[in-house]
Amino acid sequence: MAWSKLAPVRFARLNSSTGPQYVRLDGPHAYPLDVAPWSELGAGATLSSTAARRDWSESDLLCPVVPSKIVCVGRNYAAHAKELGNDVPAEPLLFFKPPSSLLAPGGTIVLPLPTQSAKVEHESELAIVIGKRTRNVSKAEAMGAVFGFTSANDVTARDLQKKDGQWTRAKGFDTFCPVGPWIETEMAIAALRVQCRVNGEVRQNGLTSDMIFDVPTLIAYISAAMTLEPGDLILTGTPEGVGPLAPGDVCEVVIRRDDGPDELGVLRASVRAT
Ligand code: MG
Repeated sequence: MAWSKLAPVRFARLNSSTGPQYVRLDGPHAYPLDVAPWSELGAGATLSSTAARRDWSESDLLCPVVPSKIVCVGRNYAAHAKELGNDVPAEPLLFFKPPSSLLAPGGTIVLPLPTQSAKVEHESELAIVIGKRTRNVSKAEAMGAVFGFTSANDVTARDLQKKDGQWTRAKGFDTFCPVGPWIETEMAIAALRVQCRVNGEVRQNGLTSDMIFDVPTLIAYISAAMTLEPGDLILTGTPEGVGPLAPGDVCEVVIRRDDGPDELGVLRASVRAT
């Protein structure tokens, strides 16, 4: 079975009896793929499925990608830079989160020991999924590197971010990078609403049109420094409204169009103490 890329297409990774499995989602049905969904971009392979259609539920979802790296952008919304007392950067401000920080949809963010950090915060972000090996692309070429988009939560130990200077530890704890629930390959990202809800209360409510550096600019800038690989993630920064997470909270990232359904779904995580 093969699919055209004309219609909106949703890809995920599911737990199965034989291990993690890339699938195309169609409502309640999942179609297992023989190759990673971005293979067609890189190798010209046709997406096909020799396995039987299966049903799926939220508890089956894994992170939709296995990135070699997670490149993040700091202070990419002016109002967020201001709320933390920072100037808007003249060029994109980059940092990494380690792949070991990834958390599957519906997972649990584990707070560090109170002796390590007393202030952990959510950051809702639109994430770019890279579809092919990319180096030194121009802004005009940049969207050709994109496989699709998903949601991410750049969970941050804010006190350690200030204390350490380098952000590696503050951004890098295990479970500090929820991603998912799936990847959308066909969507207009210019004016998406980027929200965070904690226990149902809307804490962040920004617009991607307020990014200081847009998606093509970010891809061109990053690819001028490093090779991006299929499945790599770029977290594009968070709008204002970041706030603390506490044990027992349920934190949801919701990225959607005002005039449409929740295309990127709801990326939900619960929170507990170590
Ligand atoms: Mg961030």
